[in-house]
Amino acid sequence: MELLDKLAVLADAAKYDASCASSGSVKRDSRDGQGLGSTDGMGICHSYTPDGRCVSLLKLLLTNHCQYDCLYCVNRVSSNVPRARFRPDEVVQLTLDFYRRNLIEGLFLSSGIIRSPDYTMEQLVEVARSLREDHHFRGYIHLKTIPDAAPELLARAGRHADRLSINLELPTPAGLQALAPEKDATGIRRSMGRMRLLIDDAKQAGAPTAPRAGRALRPTRATPPRFAPAGQSTQMIVGADGADDRTILATSHTMYASYGLKRVYYSAFSPIPDASSRLPLQAPPLVREHRLYQADWLMRFYGFDASEIVPATSGLLALEIDPKLAWALAHRERFPVDINRAPRELMLRVPGLGVRTVDQLLQVRRLRRLRCDDLKKLRVSMKKVLPFVVTADYTPRRQLDDPGLAQRLAPTPVQASLFDTPA
Ligand code: SF4
Repeated sequence: MELLDKLAVLADAAKYDASCASSGSVKRDSRDGQGLGSTDGMGICHSYTPDGRCVSLLKLLLTNHCQYDCLYCVNRVSSNVPRARFRPDEVVQLTLDFYRRNLIEGLFLSSGIIRSPDYTMEQLVEVARSLREDHHFRGYIHLKTIPDAAPELLARAGRHADRLSINLELPTPAGLQALAPEKDATGIRRSMGRMRLLIDDAKQAGAPTAPRAGRALRPTRATPPRFAPAGQSTQMIVGADGADDRTILATSHTMYASYGLKRVYYSAFSPIPDASSRLPLQAPPLVREHRLYQADWLMRFYGFDASEIVPATSGLLALEIDPKLAWALAHRERFPVDINRAPRELMLRVPGLGVRTVDQLLQVRRLRRLRCDDLKKLRVSMKKVLPFVVTADYTPRRQLDDPGLAQRLAPTPVQASLFDTPA
């Protein structure tokens, strides 16, 4: 098979994985004339997820052969799709060629399981090793790791990659058992735990030592061991099993708290050709994935607990309004919030106020009392914020008692274009 034909098959097969954003990496470049590439360069090859979202890496599978039979996956052993396989040196060459043409800023590499988890992982590591050591490649590398591979292979992967990830795939062990019986939920979490230790150890080694009596802080060593400086991430498929949003967010909370993950990615299930009858016929609405990202943000940056974001009654996030607004409307007794006196935690709960806006308001209010004009200057949506706040020159009257408030604050529906894919 020609290289370009392989590229067509293996780039297409990789599009179902959404967990490849390159945020959080360390800055690295080749302006000193040594090496090749940079982690923040322009010139991007756009990879598209099945629903059309754009990602900025050369995104490939090493092979779409796979011994496993995960029902939701187009590359499963029982799937009737054309197969292809790259040699590690071919992926290296493609990455360098794309980079030199200024088409990409890095590589996202995953693989089906060939021969054994160890053999597959060795091949993935070899691509990263060769790029770094043989070609001094300084662009971004994200390797998808195989959870059952030997710990020393995961350790080698982390020395060369910026980010490592292991897909959790489904939010519950029961869901994984039902749809991907060869995968082991405990093994996946064990590997995440190991990676967390290695990432933490590398960070610790690079941090200054604690001062001993009478001595100044000093770094432990000149070059600390490098291990996946952009951390680890995972992906969950949404809508392939019966897990509701409350369950999904509870799992994400565990991932962040127990394994120190940088990101959890949510990927709406895409119906695949020749799908098993145990899978839904239709994809979930794409907006569900979007609401999960918003809820995830609330957990990580706004002090919300996973259990309070999703109503226990339905277990699902509202689709028509964002989760923060939905929470505020369900807890109207907590409002209005006086933005001249409220603590930061409460300000962060006001719909329409983001983290940066809240911090700016806190700074300004040290000098004078905040008025509506201060909110306008920070370009917040007055329609969204005003029912929930008190300022020096404004008090909402009975807006919070208005049963039509949710409807007034919901975004205006936009008519779909004739060419939109139905959600
Ligand atoms: S192991 Fe990965 S590539 Fe293989 S069938 Fe499962 S999800 Fe697909």
